[in-house]
Amino acid sequence: MGKDFLMDTIIIEKIEKAIENKELKAFYQPQYDAITGRIVGAEALVRWIKDDGEVIMPDSFIPELEKTEAVNVLDWYMAEETCKTVSELRSQGVKISISSNFSRWHINEKCFVEKLTAIADRYQVPYKYLEVEITESALISESAKIIEWVKEIRKAGFSVAIDDFGSGLSSLQFVKDIPADVLKIDRSLLSSNCSSEKERIVLESIFYFAKRLNMQTIAEGVETQEQLGFLRTCSCNRIQGFLYARPMPKDKFFLCCLEKSNRLDAEDILSVQAPTSAAKLLMDAIFMRYPLVIFANLTRNSYYMMAYENFSTKSCPAAGVFDELIVHGAATMHPEDKAKFEATFNREALLKAYEEGRKSVSVVTRQLGDDGIYHEVESTDYFVKHASVDDVLVISLCDIKG
Ligand code: C2E
Ligand code: MG
Ligand code: MG
Repeated sequence: MGKDFLMDTIIIEKIEKAIENKELKAFYQPQYDAITGRIVGAEALVRWIKDDGEVIMPDSFIPELEKTEAVNVLDWYMAEETCKTVSELRSQGVKISISSNFSRWHINEKCFVEKLTAIADRYQVPYKYLEVEITESALISESAKIIEWVKEIRKAGFSVAIDDFGSGLSSLQFVKDIPADVLKIDRSLLSSNCSSEKERIVLESIFYFAKRLNMQTIAEGVETQEQLGFLRTCSCNRIQGFLYARPMPKDKFFLCCLEKSNRLDAEDILSVQAPTSAAKLLMDAIFMRYPLVIFANLTRNSYYMMAYENFSTKSCPAAGVFDELIVHGAATMHPEDKAKFEATFNREALLKAYEEGRKSVSVVTRQLGDDGIYHEVESTDYFVKHASVDDVLVISLCDIKG
């Protein structure tokens, strides 16, 4: 019998005993909407509370536990507690998702998704209300496997969060390939007042990057008003930190969630939305309808492409020369539609349409998608005016019809 196996068995027994003796408790740290300040989620965090009332923090035993698969027993216990809590809150009219931490060992665990669904079903929790947190440091090895693992969890309907982003060595390159729903930005990236310009540039870029990948963002470890103020300017979605609340026992957490001031139905959400949030909502609606949006300056022969679902733009730069964009676009058209596309969207024709007082120009063509199939795409160019320049500007909205 190997030494590791013996160690494993001893630790598992210790943890099982602690669970049995109800010494392991799930605490909850609320997460707040960055704009409205309302509770919109929470994270379950373990506390080991000994008989004599001594509280042992996770940092004192999780790193040891995480050396082996023994930690899985704890994680499943916490996942079950989380489901119970989500379910009890729902029965009191509070519908929020709660995340639970899972160690890297689960990536190789057989039937992980089946276990998760079984627990959620036991407490009748809709899957999207359970969030699987996996720490960034677990992501640096076995990338192909992790991507598959995350895909499977999401396919089942659960949400996945990348925890502690920025604390380790994982590259943006890798994170972009993981189809996670949420990016949790580690507190090590935040100084107390976010005063350094370089720090702000890094953070702004991370939030922008997450937004473009359609990921929700949570800033962890927010302790000061200065941090909150800056995070709001980055369009951070949720705030988790001592500024608002520390991790707390379940009963206290329930009181926080049930407080009248936390009821979203108490106020009209639009009346408390800052203009930036309103603009974001509008963008969400636009991207729901139009998977590809292009801005162009016809006078200066330039464009900027915001492609959320990249249907035929894989090899096309995100910004560049407008004439080249049209050449690229024409190359992806069905041979019978190529001439129509070029005739409508070449710069000269668009400028002429603008001179004639047209508000928009629209055409339907068959365009080759990334899937290798021709799709019917309606492209509409709207002429728009910027207050400070005379240039002729265009916003192009492309809609896949079939
Ligand atoms: P984490 O998942 O990144 O959890 C966030 C940690 O940051 C928590 O520490 C929380 O108390 C702390 N925190 C939150 N806001 C602030 C703040 O404003 N300032 C400061 N200084 N800290 C803040 P905690 O509860 O001690 O947990 C430490 C770590 O232990 C967790 O980091 C997580 O990696 C691990 N952990 C906790 N529960 C579990 C579990 O059930 N399973 C596993 N595998 N790991 C767990
Ligand atoms: Mg966490
Ligand atoms: Mg974290």
